[in-house]
Amino acid sequence: MSTTMDMDVLCIGAGGGAYPAAFQLARAGRKVVMVDPKGVMSGNCLAEGCVPSKAVREAALLWNRAHHFSRFGIQRAPAVDYAAVIAHKDAVQQRRYAQHADELKAFGDRLELVTGVARFLDDRRVKVEGPNVDCEYRAKQVIIASGAEVTVPPIPGAEHCLTSRDIFALNPALRSLPASLLVVGGGYIGLETACFFRAFGVRVHVMEMTNQLLPGFDPRMAAELARLLDPEITVTLNAKVETIEKTPTGFKVWYAHEGRKEAAESDQVLMAVGRSPVIPEGSDRIGLALERRAIKADEAQRTNIPGIYACGDVNNQAPLFHAALRQSLVAGANILAGRAVDYFDRGSVPFTIFTLPAAAYVGTTPSAAARLGMTLIEGAASLSEDSRAQILDELGGEVRLFFSPGSLRLIGGWAIGLDAENLISEIGLAVARGLTARDLAEFPGQHPMASEAIAKAARALV
Ligand code: ADP
Repeated sequence: MSTTMDMDVLCIGAGGGAYPAAFQLARAGRKVVMVDPKGVMSGNCLAEGCVPSKAVREAALLWNRAHHFSRFGIQRAPAVDYAAVIAHKDAVQQRRYAQHADELKAFGDRLELVTGVARFLDDRRVKVEGPNVDCEYRAKQVIIASGAEVTVPPIPGAEHCLTSRDIFALNPALRSLPASLLVVGGGYIGLETACFFRAFGVRVHVMEMTNQLLPGFDPRMAAELARLLDPEITVTLNAKVETIEKTPTGFKVWYAHEGRKEAAESDQVLMAVGRSPVIPEGSDRIGLALERRAIKADEAQRTNIPGIYACGDVNNQAPLFHAALRQSLVAGANILAGRAVDYFDRGSVPFTIFTLPAAAYVGTTPSAAARLGMTLIEGAASLSEDSRAQILDELGGEVRLFFSPGSLRLIGGWAIGLDAENLISEIGLAVARGLTARDLAEFPGQHPMASEAIAKAARALV
């Protein structure tokens, strides 16, 4: 028998787009329920995305650095103990799940996490079905934060390929390193994974359908990063994978390339052609507007239906955990205020490609400015001249800042190379707060750390 329960706010999903608002609202005395089939908080970021993939990345980075400095007497093992890397990754995931469970418990009955899948019955009523529930919830507000999932393209044989889930999920399907890996897709997930596996000695081949690695990213940034990647990673651009065939030892991947049909063999194939928003069932029935297969939301995270908000990957405004978190807090603040008082600024969300080394950008880059007919003033510093880059012997790359003409206000920037994944937060905060070239130039950046390059890039202009 189905029962109906009334509450203030219902969150569809319990990931980065949901739980920050759920916490905020529950703290303010609202009765909140999150629904997620996983039955745990943190969504795909912790289940199979950012956190586990960065646990593997750190191992790859350490492995590279240890080998580079093997002359210090660091024992050079013949091969990485991949099972130990996976065990570490799993332990990090378990630890974070336990931490989230404690956080949730602290809320008592003000905040509940229900294991199940939610679908809309109407714009205030949601049906939830799960292993132990079959009920209806009626809520004053709904936050849709159902995230995104790996896209598997309709390529014959694609179903035999690995996805990032097989590599990064808890107790992953892939437990030992293949001798070779072919990666379909030269986007950030494919390229990052290619770098980690290459660091561990796997022969890696990346196939990208378009004419640049990291399609959609600023071509100058992508080209500068490509120069710094391990040259032993084979990259084939303009390669459209058409069929994937199983062979007795692995796979044969057929692809169209420069007018010819070609084939490449590999022990394993990783399908990394992107992720698509997960739209809860019933969304069409209630008339939720979509935009490019994502739920349309404005800067206050409102959808076209009053009282329904959409946060995180499901709206595709900036499909990153930290953007979901910020959007969630925006939605929470607006629900509490009863009107739009807080807004998400997608122009100050850092985006890092965690390759080895990384590249990261924030805000407006030259290609985006060109599309908008805007002029930018650039200031740059080379990381080859940086003390820390020289200490670690990881040269190459740059910090490049983009300013509005006249005011010299920072509106974007990138870091490519050593510590890019850290530098971008400082650049992002400066973009968010509208600092000028002079503000940045006058800041005594910590020596001898790579972040010095930010002030140095600004000093090139003032
Ligand atoms: P985001 O960062 O955008 O919030 P996440 O991947 O962190 O994305 O979280 C999305 C969560 O939503 C996932 O844990 C997923 O299991 C859950 N989810 C997807 N569809 C539904 C649904 N219909 N009902 C409840 N939860 C859902």
